[in-house]
Amino acid sequence: MASSVIRIAVLHFQHETVTFLRNDTTIDDFVYPGSPARGEALLASGPKSYMGGFVQVAREYDGVELVGIESPLWPKTGSGSGWVTQEAYETFVGRMIAQLKAEGPFDGVYLCVHGAMAARGVPRPEAELARRVREVVGRRAFIAATFDPHGNEDEEFLRYADLAFCGKYFPHYDSHLQGERAARALIRAIRGTYRPAHATVKVPIISATVVQWTGASPWMDLVQRALTWEAREPDAYVNVYFGFPWSDVPDVGMTMQVITNGDADLARRIADDMALFAWRRREALLHSTRVHAIPDGVALAKQAVAAGETPVVLADHSDRSGYATWLLHEIIAQGLSKTLIATVADAAATGALGDAKAGDAFDMEIGGLADESAGDPVPIAGTVLHVIQRHGQLWIAVGFGIGNVLVISPYLVQIMEPSTLTELGLDVSEFQVIAIKSRVHFRRGFDDSGFARTILLVEPTEPFLGTVRLDALAYRNVELSDFYPYGNPEFTVRSRV
Ligand SMILES: [Zn+2]
Repeated sequence: MASSVIRIAVLHFQHETVTFLRNDTTIDDFVYPGSPARGEALLASGPKSYMGGFVQVAREYDGVELVGIESPLWPKTGSGSGWVTQEAYETFVGRMIAQLKAEGPFDGVYLCVHGAMAARGVPRPEAELARRVREVVGRRAFIAATFDPHGNEDEEFLRYADLAFCGKYFPHYDSHLQGERAARALIRAIRGTYRPAHATVKVPIISATVVQWTGASPWMDLVQRALTWEAREPDAYVNVYFGFPWSDVPDVGMTMQVITNGDADLARRIADDMALFAWRRREALLHSTRVHAIPDGVALAKQAVAAGETPVVLADHSDRSGYATWLLHEIIAQGLSKTLIATVADAAATGALGDAKAGDAFDMEIGGLADESAGDPVPIAGTVLHVIQRHGQLWIAVGFGIGNVLVISPYLVQIMEPSTLTELGLDVSEFQVIAIKSRVHFRRGFDDSGFARTILLVEPTEPFLGTVRLDALAYRNVELSDFYPYGNPEFTVRSRV
């Protein structure tokens, strides 16, 4: 144990699980060229994200050895798949634990997790991973993790782990930064100059992700308050988990988690203050982003085009399968032109179009039917413009109507940057309206970058799977009335703030 080299095992296991989708997330979904990854390949995955930040800072220290334990990367379904099967969870975690045992001992472990994974038969997948890792590495090792702010977490994780760092912004601009902080704090803990103390407070607020944009108050104020606490109290780390309501898991909802250097009372006071601050603003938190019904949103897009306020971004935040056609249907019904729709998922269509080439006539029904939230297939007659191989998947761009283009992909795609459209061979300047499937992440490339003049969030008129009306979901592990705004829960904190 007295060896001068610090050995840190690095593990990755992430998913943001929509448990209400029909298709489970299976072993196969995690296996594709490049995944699972181990060694340097794992450490090089996500260079701009949590992993990249962790590796960069850990390697600024002499005498730190990182061991990349074989880990699956994000499943190829993205977030468009349901429950992670117990077989998938046990298989990948089982391999990680076996390799940890074989290659130990370790002074520290870095867990690059998301927090909104939902696995069948494992109520708290990240905490369970930490528990099993702790069994192997023992009590003298330190375990640090990074989380996405959509994590559904409670006290359990820090029962087994020592440190947690959650991204603060949505879109998640600070993933790399949180990885950097995790590395520095973990190495300090191993060297004995940081003694992690923590507090966790659940806040009974549940919200759809579309309203959680931190570019608007009071979400922005929540970020600012966390930053203020961190600035005035050196060595305090303040994590605000917004939660992910499409996971039907017992630890769903908002959570405050604070870590300090040996001062549990301070951690408690900060966590309580953050929780009360959110609770006082609960009504405004739920109403910070306007969401239009699709027919209204498309009509507003037409008005914006007429007023020259282009480009217009129409973002359908609600599609959880990728197959939804409500927006495509309405764009055709209202006769929009120079409109790009990216994407509608249809694995059967892309599967049947393997031999397609640019210039081919196109006449097919596209999308819909994945579940009732996806709507009906929409007939599209036009011309194939581009056939694109992307990350081993076939994407097709079809021209139809007056300057319209539909991009078909095999899985749900969140277009976050105009550059993704450029990579597909499309000239984004040719479009007046760009219709995408995204909730908040698109603001990275379309809003915060200054690209779009008009931004309209839309959802179907019915209370389907992905809409802000969470009471349309058939929860089995969550009592919705325990959360604002679906009930009037009591909320008090332990300390006197
Ligand atoms: Zn997220």
